[in-house]
Amino acid sequence: ATPTDSHPPRVVRAARGTTLTAKSWQTEGPLRMLMNNLDPEVAEHPEKLVVYGGTGKAARNWEAYDAIVRTLTTLEKDETLLVQSGKPVGVFRTHEWAPRVLIANSNLVGDWATWPEFRKLEALGLTMYGQMTAGSWIYIGTQGILQGTYETFAAVAAKRFNGTLAGTLTLTGGAGGMGGAQPMAVTLNEGVVLIVDVDPSRLARRVEHGYLDEMTDDIDDAITRVLAAKAERRPLSVGLVGNAATVFAELRAREVPIDIVTDQTSAHDPLAYLPEGVTVAEWHAYAAEKPEEFTDRARAAMAKQVQAMVDFQMHGAEVFDYGNSIRAEALLGGCERAFDFPGFVPAYIRPLFAEGKGPFRWAALSGDPADIAATDKAIVELFPHDEHLRRWITAAGEKVHFEGLPARICWLGYQERHLAGLKFNEMVASGELSAPIVIGRDHLDSGSVASPYRETEAMKDGSDAIADWPLLNALLNTASGATWVSIHHGGGVGIGRSIHAGQVIVADGTPLAAEKISRVLVNDPGTGVMRHVDAGYERAEEVARERGLRVPMWET
Ligand code: NAD
Repeated sequence: ATPTDSHPPRVVRAARGTTLTAKSWQTEGPLRMLMNNLDPEVAEHPEKLVVYGGTGKAARNWEAYDAIVRTLTTLEKDETLLVQSGKPVGVFRTHEWAPRVLIANSNLVGDWATWPEFRKLEALGLTMYGQMTAGSWIYIGTQGILQGTYETFAAVAAKRFNGTLAGTLTLTGGAGGMGGAQPMAVTLNEGVVLIVDVDPSRLARRVEHGYLDEMTDDIDDAITRVLAAKAERRPLSVGLVGNAATVFAELRAREVPIDIVTDQTSAHDPLAYLPEGVTVAEWHAYAAEKPEEFTDRARAAMAKQVQAMVDFQMHGAEVFDYGNSIRAEALLGGCERAFDFPGFVPAYIRPLFAEGKGPFRWAALSGDPADIAATDKAIVELFPHDEHLRRWITAAGEKVHFEGLPARICWLGYQERHLAGLKFNEMVASGELSAPIVIGRDHLDSGSVASPYRETEAMKDGSDAIADWPLLNALLNTASGATWVSIHHGGGVGIGRSIHAGQVIVADGTPLAAEKISRVLVNDPGTGVMRHVDAGYERAEEVARERGLRVPMWET
């Protein structure tokens, strides 16, 4: 059994510089990234070990955290630590090519995969919610999602608004760890956005970090500001303190001319969505005392919010679910037309997934922003013909405020990522970078996720719920030399709704790391191409043919 939480909370921050705490960079990497996930600059509620996404945690409790740190500090280069939902459970002798850490988060047997069962087991201290990059130690703050969100709004602009959001108004909810990227993603695409959050501290944090321009608690004031900016085609983001259920319905009733509507409240977990008529101060005690009643009220509020979204769609707005399960929860809350609007993956992202294109992120273990500036330059030089990538890296370099260890994200495809990884490894070896780089990705990904309300919604062959693919991805990354590999259940869409896998690799400048990188960073996106070939996507077949991926059933 897990010991109870007797430690007082403390402030955690990863070491910087080149002095090792662990025995090698292969274990220093996961150690610093675990600590970085809990850095107060990075985590939403570090005192509770909660990193982002409602209750997504980095470790089960402080005792488990201490034991992970102790173990990583002493782990040998031929040993592997096993972590079961945030608790270190065993160390085994493996070999140098094996991952140093293997992680499984929040997994439950099918019939037991419900929120009430999960919460019961969590209360017994037997599991934790790992979200995606929280329990797999590769969360890099709001920037991590910024690129994906920027890409999504760019795709909306391309589909509906002649390639720019200039002169358009977007309405969204939720300015948390992930949702907080939305205002900047819209303004980087030249649009105006109104973002609603019940918790003023969340909005204030986004203003402080430069992700949000302004905030107000007055709906009339908010409307005046965004309509003025829309008329002038001037990019602007305004945060409005309020309940999204109330505000969305009111804006629709007032016929405010909104062009794009989405939402990123923590709707996947009904206890993390505030019902109407409940204050932020009452929220957590009420949810803990009466989870079922709270869930019913949260779902009723989501039904109201989603009904307003459906109405906006009927009046011509571009409306999409942003991967938080709000349609599914609203349906449970009685909104029968919740699925009238699509998820963002089938609407905009699937063509990129068919090419194995997806998130590629890295962090500088040195803590030195100059290392990220050097890698930014290297990326632009490596892909000189990718104008979109250049625009993103330049904007990120100018506008992104680092949270915790300096980090960067961009989207790269199959047969691209290893080029960047090998380049970074060379730069570590030559001393151009002051310390090793960790390279990973989030789980909004093409080959490592089974998630019928998000990444695999509406697959061409109907294989949305087939979860063999993420397991194969994790096994392959383990076999290819990743430094840590994880298998999760739940993630961004909630218990019962997804299975997904993650990988992170440490580029420590050694020839062995180069060998591993040239396998992991090819094979990992390769599983995305494979999965989409298997589902019958023609673009994936072309990519497999052009870039040399072997898919036996397609070989003649
Ligand atoms: P978070 O818990 O950090 O933030 C959620 C925010 O919603 C909080 O600020 C909270 O105050 C606010 N909120 C809750 N109820 C509200 C209400 N009724 N009205 C207005 N605001 C309300 O979560 P996060 O990390 O920002 O993630 C948000 C959601 O997006 C989650 O469901 C997550 O799983 C999902 N997500 C989507 C993607 C994607 O790729 N699209 C990626 C990661 C996460």
